[in-house]
Amino acid sequence: MASCAIISDVHANLEALVSVLKKIDEEKVDVIIFLGDCVGYGPAPAECLDILLDRADIMLAGNHDWAAAGLTDMTYFNPYAREAIEWTRDRLNSSQEDCLRSLPLTSVRGNMFLVHGTPREPEQWHYLTNREDAQLNFAYFEEPLCLVGHSHIPFIMERTPAGRITSLKGAVAVNKENRYIINTGSVGQPRDGNPEAAYAILKEDIVVIKRTAYDIVRTQKKMRKAGLPEYLIDRLSIGR
Ligand code: ZN
Repeated sequence: MASCAIISDVHANLEALVSVLKKIDEEKVDVIIFLGDCVGYGPAPAECLDILLDRADIMLAGNHDWAAAGLTDMTYFNPYAREAIEWTRDRLNSSQEDCLRSLPLTSVRGNMFLVHGTPREPEQWHYLTNREDAQLNFAYFEEPLCLVGHSHIPFIMERTPAGRITSLKGAVAVNKENRYIINTGSVGQPRDGNPEAAYAILKEDIVVIKRTAYDIVRTQKKMRKAGLPEYLIDRLSIGR
């Protein structure tokens, strides 16, 4: 199977994206997969979209991409997210909006099912964060692996044929008897208490979630200059 890097939730954070792509280049993977949320929250939506269009072999839509493209209503967005989407809309040209609008919700690549939110009702943008959510969602895809983003909290969950689900850490060898749901974490707005950008590498049947530092202060300065909400600026420092 081809080696791949999987990234998600860039959220217009150019410094984090550039830093992650530099690390990915060192890995010399065959394929780069992007699981959605290119825009929203951060100060560089157009730049991040252009880079992803250039570098990613597969790109999916996230809820913020859909919101920026006018495809989903924002009533369930918190006020900060909504403000950032409104700011983002003014920074995208019509071809960039068309491009966001054309991104698929799900895709299959080899033995991987790819989706931003959940295999069950991807257009509803549910969160998949615990074993109960995972158990429910294993019934909605057929492939051995499912890669998700959306919650910005990385994990690797393994399900045995008997239905036992375990959360695994570190470098995980993919066992052919089992199935997996993997959240790659967020490139541009981590929320697991670690402010470093997150991404996943799958090579020779070993999957590992990696982290890399980036110039957070530079991103924050751009956000401040853009007048984006202070809450969104502050959370980058603590990764929450
Ligand atoms: Zn997101």
